[in-house]
Order: sequence, then C-alpha cells, then structure tokens
Amino acid sequence: MNKIDRRGFLRSGIAGATTLVAASTGAFAMMPKADEQKIIYRTLGKTGIRLPIVSMGVMRADNPNLIRAAMENGIVHFDTANGYQGGRNEKMLGDIFKEYPRDSFIVATKVKPAGIERRTGLPTDKTTAKDFMDKFDESMKRLQLEYVDILYMHAIQSAGMVNHKEIVKAMKKLKKDGRVKHLGISTHTNEIEVIDAMIEAGFWEVVLIKYNFNLSNVDDINAAIERAGKAGIGVVAMKTMAGGFFDKERTEPVNATAALKWVLNNPHVHTSIPGMTSFDMLEENLRVMVDIKMTENEKRDILIAENRPGLFCTTCSKCLDECKNGLPVPDLMRAYMYAYGYANLEKAHTLLSDLETGANPCVNCSDCSVSCANNFDVKTKIADISRLTTVPHDFII
Ligand code: SF4
Ligand code: SF4
Repeated sequence: MNKIDRRGFLRSGIAGATTLVAASTGAFAMMPKADEQKIIYRTLGKTGIRLPIVSMGVMRADNPNLIRAAMENGIVHFDTANGYQGGRNEKMLGDIFKEYPRDSFIVATKVKPAGIERRTGLPTDKTTAKDFMDKFDESMKRLQLEYVDILYMHAIQSAGMVNHKEIVKAMKKLKKDGRVKHLGISTHTNEIEVIDAMIEAGFWEVVLIKYNFNLSNVDDINAAIERAGKAGIGVVAMKTMAGGFFDKERTEPVNATAALKWVLNNPHVHTSIPGMTSFDMLEENLRVMVDIKMTENEKRDILIAENRPGLFCTTCSKCLDECKNGLPVPDLMRAYMYAYGYANLEKAHTLLSDLETGANPCVNCSDCSVSCANNFDVKTKIADISRLTTVPHDFII
C-alpha cells in the first residue's frame, strides 16, 4: 500500500466510522492487505505468539477509529492498563473488540499492586492479592472479555515484588483458570534486577520494558534483554520515543521513525508498543512495521539525539537516595515527562497526587543535593511540575 492509498484509507477512517465498523465485521476485513507479506514478525518468547514488530500502546488514545484503523492495517497487539484514563481506556477497547473475532487480536493489560514502597520498590502490608484481584476483575469487566492474552504485574522495580508470593499465586491461578493466557511484568526502574529475578523464577513469560536510544545504562539493559530472550521471556519495548521531544515547548520532536527503528534493530526485542494518538503516528509506525533499515539521515538523527541531554528523566535511579528531604525525584521527573512529553496532564496529576509531595516541595531547601546523571536542574523541574497539584483533578479529565 503506498502512502497516498494508506493515507486515503486512514482519512476515510476518520471521516466514516460507519465504513470502518462495517469493514471490521464485513468483507473489507477479509481482503488481503497489500503490505501483509512484508510485515516483520517475531515470536514473543515461550508464549509462542507470533507478533508484528509494531504493536500499539493505547494509553493516550481516545479515538476508537484510530484503534479500528490499526486493526484493519495489521496491528494485532494492544497494550492498556487498569489505571489508564481512569478505566476509560480499557472500556473503549472492550467496546471495539466486540466487533472483532476474539482470535484476531492480542490484548495485554496491567495491574499495579497497591502499597509498594516507593524508594525500595518492596511490598508493604497494603500489597495484597485481594487488591490485585479486585483491580483485575474491574479490568475484565471493562474489557468485556473472557480472557486477556497477557497480564502484567505493573511498574515493578524489585525482585521482592517479582517473587511476591500471594500475588504470584493469584496470577498463576488466573492462568490455570484460563482468564489470562500469559504472565508478565512491566518495569521502568531497576529493570536489570527485575529481569534477572524473572529469569530465576522461571515461569514468567513476558517483560515489558522501557527501551530507547536515550538510556544512560543502555549496555547493561541490552545484556539483560538478551538474557531474557535466551531464557524464553518475550520482550516488549515501551517508551520507545524517549519522551518524544527535546524541549518542553514541544517544538523539537525526536525523529520518531528513527527512534522506533533503533529499538527494533535489537533482535532480542520481539515487539514494541509506541503510543499512538493520531493517524499520522499510526501511518509512520506502520511503515516501520515493514522496514527497519535505518537511512543515513535517521542514523545521524539518533547519533545527534544520543549526544544531547534529553528533556526527560531516564529513571536510571542514580539519584534515588540523594534528596536530603527524601523526595522521590525519579517519580517527580516522570510526572514532568507525562506533562511535557506526552501532554498527558491527567496522568501527571494522578502521579503527583499519589506522591503527595505538594505544590512546592523544594521551597525550604536552598542547596539541592541531587546530582542528576543527565545534568537536569532537578529543583527547577520539580518546582515547575509541582504547580499542577494546585489544579483540581476534575479540571483536567
Ligand atoms: S532542592 Fe528539592 S530535590 Fe533538591 S535536595 Fe532540596 S528538596 Fe530535594
Ligand atoms: S533525575 Fe537524573 S539521576 Fe535521577 S533518575 Fe532521572 S536521570 Fe537518573
């Protein structure tokens, strides 16, 4: 399918939901897709699922026709989470999935256990299987499915959580009962410890990991991903665009095609879930699904990007214990990324509320003790993002 044809199809998707709904249930869905032969597939570790290298991160998507267009154009794997858009994200997917045969898509959702101690990533008394299962049941109700293909224990940063007896037992039971096909863990922080604990435990099947050209510990992450792959764990890459922009005014975008190709040139990454919110993004990513060879311009863009300080925290965790007032600096930087990189104020606001750090946590501190590995002026960024806590949540949803 050439550019004009695909654009034409995608635009028709915007203009004519009826056409797409009809297509999804009627003859169009059965038509061979022009690029189907060229789609690059990889097998998601021991799950045995063969997936196109590009899947869809749905976190910020709110246009059902974008999801339908993705489905009609070869994307089969959709990644959501219990917490995305306060549950509306799962509900939107559930409503769309009803239009499609159950074996024509793969859905992954994530449940974050409650009460994890923020600094160590270890469980507390509040980290219970009951809470985890309640959230899972809520997700299934919204998705309106009998099973999900992958269930991730979400945002895990310690071996202690990888091996949390109660939650692991509950997850294994979900698999035994057929409500979940495969068990996974998602991790943005301390990924190497998490991956090695998963390998050691032996039964985990998928890891969802932050992976992009901007990681300060990329060699160590590459080695861990390779170990995971060799152990039969499916590797799914998220945060592939490194925040998407170099400046908070969003005038200097990351070369998204180059960034995604960079990720997928690692053969140990089985698929990726770039977040997509527009038809243009979908179109760009569909092109990568059939061609990951980097052009000279793309190589140059990545080289330049690797050597300039990113706008966003790489959550390397090196500053975890450095704030003399105990602020969770990497989390505050993540909220900054949600606001300025993703333009997702709701997610930034939710995270800030969870952190309970207030509107100006550095106000009484004249001399910042945090030394960021990326040379961020942490204090200024914290002051900037913390202003969001003064806005009532219902103003921004
Ligand atoms: S300025 Fe803020 S981040 Fe830095 S040490 Fe003080 S309270 Fe912590
Ligand atoms: S603020 Fe800097 S040192 Fe701290 S986790 Fe982020 S990138 Fe690493």
